[in-house]
Amino acid sequence: MYPFAYLRPQRLTDALALLQQHPEAKALSGGMTLLPTLKQRLRAPSHLVDLTRLPELQGIRFDGGLLHVGAAARHAAIAASPVVRAQLPALAELAGLIGDQQVRNRGTVGGSVANADPAADHPAGLLGLGATVVTDRRRIAADAMFVAMFETALAPDEVVVAIEYPQPRRAAYAKQRHPASGYAVAGVFIAQTGDGIRVAVTGAGPCAFRWTAAEQRLAASDLNPAALDGLALDPAGLNDDLSATGAYRASLVATLARRALAAIQQAPEDDHGI
Ligand SMILES: Cc1cc2nc3c(=O)[nH]c(=O)nc-3n(C[C@H](O)[C@H](O)[C@H](O)COP(=O)(O)OP(=O)(O)OC[C@H]3O[C@@H](n4cnc5c(N)ncnc54)[C@H](O)[C@@H]3O)c2cc1C
Repeated sequence: MYPFAYLRPQRLTDALALLQQHPEAKALSGGMTLLPTLKQRLRAPSHLVDLTRLPELQGIRFDGGLLHVGAAARHAAIAASPVVRAQLPALAELAGLIGDQQVRNRGTVGGSVANADPAADHPAGLLGLGATVVTDRRRIAADAMFVAMFETALAPDEVVVAIEYPQPRRAAYAKQRHPASGYAVAGVFIAQTGDGIRVAVTGAGPCAFRWTAAEQRLAASDLNPAALDGLALDPAGLNDDLSATGAYRASLVATLARRALAAIQQAPEDDHGI
């Protein structure tokens, strides 16, 4: 590990000033991704600016049909939150499927979204629900957030403050976990929202994306799984690695979409999901 200075500002404005003052500084949340890269000497930031205690990044609340989750919310807190479990149970389910207990106790939704790992779970939830990423300076629609592998619409010194999730009528997430890490070999989030059906896929491509062909078929059939018969993603362009080939992932995504639909069909509609 290269030497660095550790800074723990008390307010968001102070954190932003530090990030602007030190161009080689990095924001630190749960450290579940950032710290291993430092240990492996893959990064050499001059400063780590710890965001986890900033009051502006805390809290989970439901108000006016929107679930507001502070960027510093840990996966375990989201999974266990009575508010999330009552208002958006599919998101609690997603958070509870991340990694293992230790990772869930440290990792945050803000860090996950900013990191944009191709196999991360939260990006599927954001895209599937049509969420909004609230930063220190603007609001970014989930559809515009995930640009490429480990690449988002965020500027280098921009800080994710919160995620706002509109409450869907029904939603569910289905995932195939990597047996070692727990990351998604593939994951599919399906939601029936005020704007129609949304189908978001993670793990299969360089970053999370919407499966629009599936959305169109499901919209025309009121979420009938049979509408997906004969439909598959093109394996070309999908991730092809030691865990799974592109063809395997294409098949897996179709299977996971059916599992998510089955979970949606089983859930009472006023429960908003699984
Ligand atoms: C063994 C293991 C298994 C895992 N399994 C899974 C899994 O199954 N599914 C899954 O989705 N994830 C998984 N993860 C990832 C983990 O859950 C975290 O979500 C991820 O590491 C990033 O969150 P963090 O809070 O730890 O961020 P950090 O590691 O602190 O930061 C990650 C990056 O985001 C930046 N950043 C952090 N917070 C902000 C912010 N608020 N605004 C702007 N930039 C910010 C940092 O500068 C850094 O570049 C796993 C991690 C490990 C180590």
